[in-house]
Amino acid sequence: MEIPFNKPYITGQEIENIARVIELKKLAGDGEYTASVQKYMEDKYGFKKTLLTTSCTDALEMCALLANIDSQSEIIMPSYTFVSTANAFALRGAKIVFADSERITPNIDVNKIEELITEKTRVIVAMHYAGASCDMDKINSLSEKYNLIVIEDAAQAIDSYYKNQPLGTIGALSTFSFHETKNLTSGEGGLLAINRPEYIMRAEIIREKGTNRSQFFRGEIDKYGWVDIGSSFLASELIAAFLMAQLNKKEDIQQKRRSLWNRYYNNLSNLGASNENLLPIIPEYATNNAHMFYLTCEDIEERTKLMKTLSSKGIKSTFHYLSLHKSNYYKDKHDGRELSQADKWADCLVRLPMFTDLTYDEVDYISENILNFYNA
Ligand SMILES: *Cc1c(COP(=O)(O)O)cnc(C)c1O
Repeated sequence: MEIPFNKPYITGQEIENIARVIELKKLAGDGEYTASVQKYMEDKYGFKKTLLTTSCTDALEMCALLANIDSQSEIIMPSYTFVSTANAFALRGAKIVFADSERITPNIDVNKIEELITEKTRVIVAMHYAGASCDMDKINSLSEKYNLIVIEDAAQAIDSYYKNQPLGTIGALSTFSFHETKNLTSGEGGLLAINRPEYIMRAEIIREKGTNRSQFFRGEIDKYGWVDIGSSFLASELIAAFLMAQLNKKEDIQQKRRSLWNRYYNNLSNLGASNENLLPIIPEYATNNAHMFYLTCEDIEERTKLMKTLSSKGIKSTFHYLSLHKSNYYKDKHDGRELSQADKWADCLVRLPMFTDLTYDEVDYISENILNFYNA
């Protein structure tokens, strides 16, 4: 059996939607499909406003602009995250202050944040790893106490909740990704979600190259021009049309992924007895959106052996982030603190194949090989 790590799921409706865009001859951004995508996300999850972007990376860069981040700013975020979480703020010249991860999940350890706050701290970024929420009550209370902006990097967290609140609705701003590797995809694609009305108008301007073009098209002003800094962050209608097909099938996709995730978990549950850290932990305040199924090995040697064994059976597994505080770009800028849990996740976490078209037979085959590896 050959099992890839990821395979994008196609609903079949994408091609019809794209044909309609071609027929309408409205290919640039902010047409009817962009409006449908944004309305879907706002209605379903209760964001005050959403804006479709070409990537989550773009949406994060918009957040840094909206928060007026500059070279005097400090931003607290986990070291164990995707490079774009940090890069968006580094582009504005900010200092990134990396926090360690929790022991039981790769998410930021909320008990390690307060000691990192200084007069220059402006933002805390909460990245919800594998779509399972960070401990948001604690982050919110720090935000209130020190007047900090909370931004959620919810790239992996569509359709997941913290104590019944949809992820992405808790921070002032949040970002989603529709990259090929995410639960719902348009190849590349992202979304900025805005929960504070005071950011809405400026976000529209920043996304339209620093112009008030959006207001002009709504007929609110009679000519448009350059009013602020910005860039071209909006996605084409072709992207929106593709994405809308996926959103229309979201319930099916999510149900399928959850059942695959549960099958992995049940198949492997015996391993918990011999190696209590191996299986993923979803904290009680979080939900599981089945973005990813990962295992945590004891050390990097065990992980390398496991990945090799799986590879010899045709199963493609992968590790994930390297700690950003040790990256080539940031290691000399980091203040030297050891972040042992971030390093542990970098060394020990392994992701198993997880995609909507995966079959139960494939999950069983992968599980069997893992059980054999551990002699369980
Ligand atoms: C995927 C991902 C991103 C980047 O998303 P793009 O849409 O590819 O820009 C950012 N942060 C996290 C945590 C991600 O998983």
